[in-house]
Amino acid sequence: MEQVGVNYFLEFTYLIASVLFILGLKGLSHPESARRGMFMAEAGMAAAVFGTLFHHDIHVYEWIILGLVAGSIIGALMAIWVPMTAMPQRTALSHAFGAIAAALVGIAEYTLHGGATMPGFTRGALGFEVMLGALTTTGSLIAAGKLQGVVRGTPVQFKGQQVLNLVLFGSMVGCFIYTIIHPEASLFFYAMAGLGFLFGVMLVIPIGSADMPVVMSLLNSYAGLAAAATGFVLGNNVLIIAGTLDGFSGLILSILMCKAMNRSITNVLFGGFGAVHHEAGPGATGEMREISLDDAAVRLAYASKVVFVPGYGLATAQAQHAVRDLASALEERGVTVKYGIHPVAGRMPGHMNVLLAEANVPYGDLYEMEQINPEFPTTDVAVVVGANDVVNPDARDNPDSPIAGMPILEVDKAKSVIVLKRGQGRGFSGLENPLFFKPVTSMLYGDAKSSLAQLAQEVKNV
Ligand code: NAP
Repeated sequence: MEQVGVNYFLEFTYLIASVLFILGLKGLSHPESARRGMFMAEAGMAAAVFGTLFHHDIHVYEWIILGLVAGSIIGALMAIWVPMTAMPQRTALSHAFGAIAAALVGIAEYTLHGGATMPGFTRGALGFEVMLGALTTTGSLIAAGKLQGVVRGTPVQFKGQQVLNLVLFGSMVGCFIYTIIHPEASLFFYAMAGLGFLFGVMLVIPIGSADMPVVMSLLNSYAGLAAAATGFVLGNNVLIIAGTLDGFSGLILSILMCKAMNRSITNVLFGGFGAVHHEAGPGATGEMREISLDDAAVRLAYASKVVFVPGYGLATAQAQHAVRDLASALEERGVTVKYGIHPVAGRMPGHMNVLLAEANVPYGDLYEMEQINPEFPTTDVAVVVGANDVVNPDARDNPDSPIAGMPILEVDKAKSVIVLKRGQGRGFSGLENPLFFKPVTSMLYGDAKSSLAQLAQEVKNV
């Protein structure tokens, strides 16, 4: 093919890829179309990679083929072996991969061509790409480590930390500006990259693992912006478009998550949430009442309306199919069954929706927090399946609680509540939950999957 024709073909694949990315993102905005959205985004990425193989700067394919094979094997193994519960840390790793790619491309461009030959704008984009890429790489690795439990999950804080971070940040930005003005000063360029890697670590270690999903969403946004900057350096349109989409959707998601937890972004980044052990409000005293499996099954079987409230424990127990089976057994008896979904239940946005969709729970049975809360007073039994923080009434009733103001699912307003959990374990915030001590609440201890399976069996026998 003639070079001009090849260039047109390449730009055409980029155009197709960009359209698919936008449609993919739109699909992801609703659970019903999310799967289709994912396929579109994947097809877009395949088109972008395929088109790039025809780039006129590529003369030998050996390394590219090696990279494609290695990347595909690592990606496939991660997709096959990583369990749903470890999806947040897997995503953090993906951000680290994307960010290190952006940083290395920037460092390679600078090393090969030197900054002096580049126009000022490209130099700025290059510095931005390396700086953001570097800090996102180490920040995402620390986030993945915290979520996996290989790095201490509680905030690591020491005296003068914020001043040190400010000095690091200032030095990094100083080096960035200096290299734009004096592109030949390679020492400053590499110092900026080094400071970026260090700053990523220092930025994330003072943040507790409960806030990691928000941090990851922010880092995702940084990785996207680094990719967009890479696009400007390389003159690559699809990188600019995909990076910008990623950057801004990540930012919007972070803001939405903060809203759902009634926290500000600055509080998440600098608040050290989880560093101090907080006492629960006055309601968290007394005894928790246990209920037997038989009694719980009878209560459910004779209810007219039951609302399931899933949380992180549903994911760890992989109890999505079991909850669906119990719901079906109840529906066969004429019980109305609904699911109340909190926006930050679980460990990532949409976590519960994904799990329940996997078990073919009809989308129409899922109710968002604002829709289901007015229904609790007319609910006979609210069944809390491995949820804790998202049903903690202290958020509503105790202004001194660290989660004060976080909107909750008001299960305590139901006529009765059955909580399925393994023992006295706390939620991600580490707070005691007064719901478990309320007269309306009964505790059914055990792994959620096995409790639900036994309940389904018992309900059928009632
Ligand atoms: P949670 O507060 O973390 O509580 C989960 C509960 O599940 C625990 O109390 C645990 O008690 C129980 N559990 C664990 N494994 C279980 C099993 N196999 N069977 C039965 N129960 C089990 O969960 P949540 O109510 O879903 O709240 C989510 C938390 O994550 C919130 O603090 C939220 O702010 C935070 N967060 C979420 C996101 C997001 O995007 N989803 C983002 C940022 C922060 P036992 O150990 O006693 O069983």
